[in-house]
Amino acid sequence: MAGGVNSNFRLNISPTPLVFERGEGPYLYDVDGNKLIDYYLGMGPMILGHNPAALTAAVKTQIDSGILFAGQTAVEAEAARLVCEMVPSAERMRFGSSGSEVDQAALRVARAATGRQKVIKFEGHYHGWFDNVLWSTAPGLDAAGPYEAPKAVAGSKGQLADTAETLVVLPWNDLDLLEARLAKGDIAAVIMEAAMCNAGAVHPAAGYLEGVREACTRHGTILVFDEVITGFRLAPGGAQERFGVSPDLSTFGKAIANGFPVAAIAGRADLLDLFSTGGVVHGGTYNSQPIAMAATVATLKALQPSLYAGIDKTGTRLMSGMREIFQRAGVKASVEGFPQVFHVAFGLEEPATNYRDLARMDKQAYVAFTTALLRRGVRALERGAWFMSSEHDDAVIGQTLDVVEDAVRQIK
Ligand code: PLP
Repeated sequence: MAGGVNSNFRLNISPTPLVFERGEGPYLYDVDGNKLIDYYLGMGPMILGHNPAALTAAVKTQIDSGILFAGQTAVEAEAARLVCEMVPSAERMRFGSSGSEVDQAALRVARAATGRQKVIKFEGHYHGWFDNVLWSTAPGLDAAGPYEAPKAVAGSKGQLADTAETLVVLPWNDLDLLEARLAKGDIAAVIMEAAMCNAGAVHPAAGYLEGVREACTRHGTILVFDEVITGFRLAPGGAQERFGVSPDLSTFGKAIANGFPVAAIAGRADLLDLFSTGGVVHGGTYNSQPIAMAATVATLKALQPSLYAGIDKTGTRLMSGMREIFQRAGVKASVEGFPQVFHVAFGLEEPATNYRDLARMDKQAYVAFTTALLRRGVRALERGAWFMSSEHDDAVIGQTLDVVEDAVRQIK
């Protein structure tokens, strides 16, 4: 395997990419016999923790009926019904297999519906690893250009350079700049995480999402919420439920199936119907794979309001406990976001409002911190995100805070 891993995002693990044997509840067990409290949670999907019993039972039952049919099944219809019931803007939907793919589907539909080519994306927002969107996801500030008109900075060598011409990169959370660009009337879609979670947790400014919604409608632009992280995590209906703003299209992945490779695009019926009657192609051999659909149904049924209320309590305790520890130790750090997914940024005191604030965080010191955590049995992402599950109970949070306190002492 190139680099010993199967995704570049697993390369930068400190001190080294790990090899795991088993997961259960909030814990992972590596091949060396270490038991780790896990806040990676598969990089977001495992909102029910590792190996929830109801989900594994559903999957075991489904596999006895067959693996792949290239046709429709009752279980996928049930999964689709649950998505449409839970997601406020979902009049119609389609399943896919990864967040990257359904983001492509959303942009294609938006271009078909509007007859326009250009898409606005925001600095620091990640929408998958494909050529036309892997721009300015984590640009160095020296290369990023002026705040008002950021340069599109390529995320990978070998990327089709021409695709930058189809994008306009803007700073997120700045309605005036967005309005001014939309007014030219040539933008097919605005795509964004409705709350920034991938590069760091940033709340939308008061009125920002409402303003974006209104401006997109006024200028005939399709509003796409990329809810690959926020979907089924911030609330049963994702960021759009939590903030009460309805996109035209939204995309989902990760928590939709608690670790199975499932993604979805949902939204306005007239837009989704372009896949069936409007000549817009969307495919995928593995879309709505029955075993993954059984996992989706089991996950979505478990995502009751009480589960979010539980994580509200435990996540809030972890966030405030960490803030107190950092403050006592004199470590400058911000702990921001949501109880279900938050972000720790060393070197920042004020909550970030956009990517350029986040880019000033002290990444090196933070990696020293996560390495110290790992040596003490807590696994957290080196980029600052902490994902919570329903299985991280008060006892686990208490243990984590003890470890955090000890790790902070070591790195000071
Ligand atoms: N969109 C967001 C906001 C993400 O965080 C990710 C993955 O981390 C993606 C899209 C791409 O999803 P996938 O890795 O399933 O292709």
